[in-house]
Amino acid sequence: MLQVLRVSVTDHLMTGDRFAVVHDGAGFSRTDKIAAIMKNSLACKTLKVCWAGADQSENCGYCEKCVRTQLNFSAAGAKSSPPCFPSELDVNDIRRIQINNKYQLAELASILAYAREHGVSAPWMPVLQDRLTTWQPVDPGVLERQVNGGVR
Ligand SMILES: [Zn+2]
Repeated sequence: MLQVLRVSVTDHLMTGDRFAVVHDGAGFSRTDKIAAIMKNSLACKTLKVCWAGADQSENCGYCEKCVRTQLNFSAAGAKSSPPCFPSELDVNDIRRIQINNKYQLAELASILAYAREHGVSAPWMPVLQDRLTTWQPVDPGVLERQVNGGVR
């Protein structure tokens, strides 16, 4: 199982004599953080995660990150997508999204593991399991370069 290393490599570079960068929250998974956000209705309305949509002020609900975030909410126990997304998650979205690298794959695997650990049962879970099981990098050399620290 792949694991995501949650360490900022820039914190020490951005810290100076009069300004300290304190890395906080690294001990929590993305789904842990979403579980905390779920407790705040304003945060559920205003959460912005998308960088891919045409309208940069909103979540597109279509890109990999939007789909992944909706999966985070479901894994954390949400029965529907929060209002910050334009529509409900469709399991076909999981089949459609492009998983470009092992880091995205590990994030998706962590969401599924979180859901299982917390007794969640949802229709998206076997679909995501299938995506994780059958995933192959588009270019097998990309994975090798990622393992060796070349391409991210
Ligand atoms: Zn998006």
